[in-house]
Amino acid sequence: MTARDSVGLCLTCRWVRTVTNRRGSTFFRCGRADTDPGFPRYPPLPVLQCRGYEPRPSPEGTGRGQTGAVH
Ligand code: SF4
Repeated sequence: MTARDSVGLCLTCRWVRTVTNRRGSTFFRCGRADTDPGFPRYPPLPVLQCRGYEPRPSPEGTGRGQTGAVH
């Protein structure tokens, strides 16, 4: 099983904050929960659907193929 399978949307969400404890376990904390109590701070994984999901911009995704032109 890949991380994508076991974590789901949070893995690529711009709101996620990963927390690793001393034993090396990684937890996925939802950053939206800080300002919106409708989101669980530690959502049960995998998250397959989420109304707050926003894809994180990929670091290498800038400058190519995104000119902003609409026509
Ligand atoms: S907004 Fe949804 S997908 Fe994004 S981190 Fe929070 S629970 Fe995960």
